[in-house]
Amino acid sequence: MVTRLPSGCVTGQDGDVDFAFVSGNPALDLAGTVGSRRDRPSDALTCPADLERWVAECAELPDRVTADATTFEAALSLREAVYRLALDRVLGRPFDPDSLEIVNRAAAGPMPAIRLSDSGVSTSGDLPAVLTQLARSAIALLADPDACLKECGRTDCTRIYLDRSRGARRNWCGMEECGNRVKAAAYRARKRARSS
Ligand SMILES: [Zn+2]
Repeated sequence: MVTRLPSGCVTGQDGDVDFAFVSGNPALDLAGTVGSRRDRPSDALTCPADLERWVAECAELPDRVTADATTFEAALSLREAVYRLALDRVLGRPFDPDSLEIVNRAAAGPMPAIRLSDSGVSTSGDLPAVLTQLARSAIALLADPDACLKECGRTDCTRIYLDRSRGARRNWCGMEECGNRVKAAAYRARKRARSS
């Protein structure tokens, strides 16, 4: 379980938390809104307004949804179920039945509407429809035997991402998020070793 701040919204409107969309799949990006899951989990979604902002920023999802306490809890429950199933997949173990149930139930609802125009595809729908889309996206990913799911190589990160690179040789969830940080830390360590 992830501990969240008890009440209030300290992160939402002022945008001091940047969401990262680097996992290669929106459901994995949702799961990635909790970082450092093993040691000291940090949750970027602390209130319904955070979730509304996350959905708006996610390219595949509608620009505007409204979240209340119930849909917010449903989103967090789906998020944790997706994470658990993705981790099961990474570790090569059978899927957790409770998490399967949550994702399958979410996937059964109506999907957001999509419209094609010269400027591309626009998506519209409410938050339950968004959760359906995320659940289906997770299912398609988890059912794909060729999808290479990995946990980020930076120990603290714990984000699971889809490696689409040639030969699946990617090590980090994102260069900016983790790759550069690991390389900078290695550089500092080498420099310390040289000067001592
Ligand atoms: Zn990472």
